[in-house]
Amino acid sequence: MRKVIPALLLCSCGGLAPPDDRFTPQGFSTDEIEILRSAGDAWCERAGCCPTFDGGGSIIVMVPDFIDSDTRVGRCWTSSDNSRSLIEILDRSDRPDWLTALRVTALHELGHHCGCHNHQPAGNVMAAQFDPTAQAITDVDLACL
Ligand SMILES: [Zn+2]
Repeated sequence: MRKVIPALLLCSCGGLAPPDDRFTPQGFSTDEIEILRSAGDAWCERAGCCPTFDGGGSIIVMVPDFIDSDTRVGRCWTSSDNSRSLIEILDRSDRPDWLTALRVTALHELGHHCGCHNHQPAGNVMAAQFDPTAQAITDVDLACL
């Protein structure tokens, strides 16, 4: 797996202008990319933010671990010029609930990419803690846009 992290990625996701919605996926299988697409489609349908996964300036990458021992399962960064997002998702594909976890994590991190800066209570995809029961974007999630 080739891992490319642009040098200018410094800030948590979110800024004044929307970053590039065209993501280059790295390290995901075809089935996993379909999960990313369904998460992107969900944001497109509910919020008009339409991430795609056929290549582009933003990157979504599966990582074996976070270098800084972060306890999250995913995180989102924006380049300092706010033109691109980098979403890192922790590889937990050895777990039986992996595809569910990938969907919820992608929904959450794409929410940050789309401009939702706040975390919400459990039961929402923008919950602060990973919540496998949060399968759909709620009105509570959308209120933070
Ligand atoms: Zn978050």
